[in-house]
Amino acid sequence: MSFLNAFILSFSDFGEHDRRFSLLTKEHGKINAICKSILRPNAKLAGHLDIPSLSWAELVWSVRGWQITQALELESFSCVRKNSEALRAVLALASSLDRLLFAEDDHEFKGRLTSTDTDNQSKNIYELWYAFLKTMEQHAGRALPVNYIFIQWQCMTKILHELGFLPDTFVCARCGNKFHSAFITYIENQLYCDNCRKALSLVGQLFPKSVLDLMHQGLRGAWFPESSYAVPYIQLARLFEYQSTVFVI
Ligand SMILES: [Zn+2]
Repeated sequence: MSFLNAFILSFSDFGEHDRRFSLLTKEHGKINAICKSILRPNAKLAGHLDIPSLSWAELVWSVRGWQITQALELESFSCVRKNSEALRAVLALASSLDRLLFAEDDHEFKGRLTSTDTDNQSKNIYELWYAFLKTMEQHAGRALPVNYIFIQWQCMTKILHELGFLPDTFVCARCGNKFHSAFITYIENQLYCDNCRKALSLVGQLFPKSVLDLMHQGLRGAWFPESSYAVPYIQLARLFEYQSTVFVI
């Protein structure tokens, strides 16, 4: 039996009343677990395992893998739930994160949750996701205009960085010099400086260097509610994310 706090990333229904969950934990990264009878009327765990809640859960190992036997919602992120734009961004990222992470509980960890997080990756991803939800919750509770999709892609960039999917965003992939010109060129998940682009007549997608500056500030912990570079930022982050799915699949 194990007790842990987990974010609900996704779920799918199976059988008549059962649901399979994908949980994000600090200690063990992503865990798959089933919850039996949760779809029955008056099920006692209903309402404690919704996306994107942070919940306490009791897990028991069974022949079908981890089974959730008790759960208690700790944080519901109620402002996000009431704000359709914020909620859409959170749900989209929860599903991307679920796709990017491998569950470590399926085979070799049969029935015991061991701590194998030697490089702190699980802990870092968990804390990133928590910081993202708290940022969204804070903004969703106010009336000020916020670019939720921009915040969503800032979080995606941080996650890709943590998982090692980001290319070098500090120096040119060809000459190794630090980026200093106003524009950088993206070609097949590599970034090139303007000198190399001109010297080699490279054809790729041009981005303002300010996008990289925003990314670097983000990797140091900043979150931006809006920016005049939000559109190119999201375009570049989408390219990075697309490249990472090529690796994962
Ligand atoms: Zn260069």
